[in-house]
Amino acid sequence: MPDRAAPADLRRLAGLAREYGTPLYAFDLDRVRAQVAGLRAALPEGVGVLYSVKANPLPRICAVLAGLGLGAEVASPGELRAALAAGFGAEQILVSGPYKHPGLLTVPGVRVSVDSVSELAQLADRGTAHALLLRVRPDFAPACGIPMGPVSRFGIPAAELAHAGAILRGSDLDVIGFHVYPGSQNLRAADAVANLRNAYELTVRAAGSTGVDPRVLDLGGGFGIPYGPREPRPLDLGPVGDELARIQSCAPGVDLLLELGRYLVAAAGWYVTRVVAEQHYDGRVGVVVDGGTHHRPDLCGLDLARASFPPLLLGSPAGPGRTTDVTGCLCLPWDVLAEGVTMPAVQAGDLLAFANSGAYGLSAAPHSFISHPPPAQITFDRSRAEHV
Ligand SMILES: *Cc1c(COP(=O)(O)O)cnc(C)c1O
Repeated sequence: MPDRAAPADLRRLAGLAREYGTPLYAFDLDRVRAQVAGLRAALPEGVGVLYSVKANPLPRICAVLAGLGLGAEVASPGELRAALAAGFGAEQILVSGPYKHPGLLTVPGVRVSVDSVSELAQLADRGTAHALLLRVRPDFAPACGIPMGPVSRFGIPAAELAHAGAILRGSDLDVIGFHVYPGSQNLRAADAVANLRNAYELTVRAAGSTGVDPRVLDLGGGFGIPYGPREPRPLDLGPVGDELARIQSCAPGVDLLLELGRYLVAAAGWYVTRVVAEQHYDGRVGVVVDGGTHHRPDLCGLDLARASFPPLLLGSPAGPGRTTDVTGCLCLPWDVLAEGVTMPAVQAGDLLAFANSGAYGLSAAPHSFISHPPPAQITFDRSRAEHV
């Protein structure tokens, strides 16, 4: 994986900012490809990977991932359309989420993750030809930055699985397996291994309670990204691959799936802004930029303003560091992109690039607030750059 701040990247980003203006989202498709190659090298043969489209639904990013043979996990008609247009085959698409808009069930071949007993009962009444996975809520405490354990709301709780089994026995639904999602933003190999193991063991119990003999197990993923100095090291996939190989040997003939969003795309994206002014308040220095949290939200509650690496200064020679806030252009006190970071003094016109901005960016943002124009979104690779 290339460095977050490789000089060639900085030059490229500065060039894109000159060409397309700021604020700007820029996505390096070669980094997406490199991330998938690294993942593939660490996973045992036969483990499938679904791309969680909500992390970044841009058509060119989806097309790269489809072209590399991944599947897709979608939750709305728009995401389903994006996945199909990008080239994911219907059979490689898993529809999930607590509400299946009718538009999600009109494409033959897609698999459907059933989120609740109530949804299962409705499908049994109506009948459906889709192959189904039962999403089972973790009954263990997952170790993750963003856990979805026993007190989360998604999936069928273990206590309701017998009821689900009874519904299945009276129906002709085609349940092919289970789906467990322990959570997101996992950077520790031991935690990722424990989550996979616990998820697999839960599916074994779920098979006993429901009478389903699984052919497919989606065990989640939630592999994280080192956004900042609190968690600077990437996830070590070696032990994760070993655990998946062990699960494969326990479940011969069963297709294992992972579903990953940010892990595949976050490090491929930058949010590039231009410094427009400086503010002084409460003994602090704030550098105002032409972007803000309306474009770079913190939807997942990761405390990005305080926990991220400082933005990268593009172009100008770096001087000594000073403690700086980077404030956005909104008339909103908490529109702060970086708080108390150490960075060189900058001036109006300088360019600042926020790394690790490839996931949960514009599609997760309240970008119509205050009606600034939307940022351009550019995908690029070695050979070319394209406006999205
Ligand atoms: C959001 C989501 C993902 C992707 O999460 P990341 O943290 O981006 O990897 C995967 N599976 C489900 C069910 C999700 O809701």
